[in-house]
Amino acid sequence: MTGSVEEYLNQHKDRHLNLLLDLLRIPSVSADSSHRQDMRKAADFVRSAMEKAGLTALLHETAGFPIVTGCWREAGADAPTVLIYGHYDVQPPDPLNEWTSPPFAPDIRDGKIYARGATDDKGQMLTHLIAIEAWLKTTGSLPVNVIMVVEGEEEVGSNNLDLFLESKREEYACDIAVISDTSMYAQDMPAITYGLRGILACEVLLTGPNRDLHSGVFGGAVTNPINALVKMLASLHDEHGRVTVPGFYEAVVSLTDEERGQFAALPFSQEEFERDLQVKGTTGEYGFSTPERRWARPTLDLNGIKGGYQGEGPKTIVPSKASAKITCRLVPNQNPQQLTAALRQHLEAVCPPGVRMEFKDFHGCSGLVFNTSGPYFQAATSAIEKAFGRAPVFIREGGSIPVVASLKHIFNVETLLLGWGLNSDNLHSPNEHFHQRNFERGTLASAHLFSELAAMKTS
Ligand SMILES: [Zn+2]
Repeated sequence: MTGSVEEYLNQHKDRHLNLLLDLLRIPSVSADSSHRQDMRKAADFVRSAMEKAGLTALLHETAGFPIVTGCWREAGADAPTVLIYGHYDVQPPDPLNEWTSPPFAPDIRDGKIYARGATDDKGQMLTHLIAIEAWLKTTGSLPVNVIMVVEGEEEVGSNNLDLFLESKREEYACDIAVISDTSMYAQDMPAITYGLRGILACEVLLTGPNRDLHSGVFGGAVTNPINALVKMLASLHDEHGRVTVPGFYEAVVSLTDEERGQFAALPFSQEEFERDLQVKGTTGEYGFSTPERRWARPTLDLNGIKGGYQGEGPKTIVPSKASAKITCRLVPNQNPQQLTAALRQHLEAVCPPGVRMEFKDFHGCSGLVFNTSGPYFQAATSAIEKAFGRAPVFIREGGSIPVVASLKHIFNVETLLLGWGLNSDNLHSPNEHFHQRNFERGTLASAHLFSELAAMKTS
């Protein structure tokens, strides 16, 4: 990378910070219909910032909030094409009284920018746009072709994104995707997330007698749906914390010794983990460490359970209905549809007479793991090393980022998940913030990334 790009970033530091602060002042809460105008304002802001940076920017209407894109494709057919994804919508700021400074009046304290969306994802998304601007303003070009896609519905399920990306299957053909919407492992310990868990979600509903019954008159003589449900649910794990659904582990790709070594080498304190959660001891699948359980092992969790009388004092009934919501976190190769069917079969098999079982299948997506020795991961590694002064660690994420699966599916590309934020940045919580230093280093890393990616493709 030419020195002038870095110089430009230094010279325009204040202006770039102000760009972020201005975007943070727009309360683009996608979940709250009273912010419809603000959503439009934020989309326009991003479009205009893209244009000023030198991209060809467009606002695309969808059935929901607009998707903003910015392209620069003059690097030529030999240069790689990078698709950068981000989002301009934010989580609701509630509870408001827990914010030290108002969520949409950004405030800088101790080198941290406090505002809703500071890290997730306005700040992280802008690092790439600012890096693009620095290249275009100083050299008149970029070493790669870029397509930036910034949506406004990430926090409400990205309902219109896949349809849009599908419609651009050919136009947006690319070599690699980049997303900064994850976290570093710790302050001064940058990370590349190379694996994500998938998910399946369902609900099981039991109906027994046609009405709530007197437990003195009927108790013991009819199947109680709550008794039945908890017994069925308890059958889903064995005493070693393993899921008992037949075939559940069949497709699971085991962690390699190298990965287990990498995880074990990361600074992690079980004691601090428990202290933070105020629990004494943890349970989980036997034979695996906490990081392994969180990142690389499949799970089954009950998310909610409902039935019978929930009011004050006792009520002597045999309830008519009971239900539970269940999610499984899946690892690569596990098929969410197949496992949903297997889970349903298992529950049907253990459902006793006297209750009728209904089963609702919600969404599902597969887990993903990328090969970190590939050229684009090497490019990202050296870009981060240049900007942060140390190489990133490779980590996985226990959650799911559905857009990564969509990008794989639609464009057949891997995604570099380069997080500049921290897990302690209060994402989705009051007092969300972004370290100014990480904003700057992330921007620099992105600027390096473009030349490193170009070098990898031609070498
Ligand atoms: Zn986000």
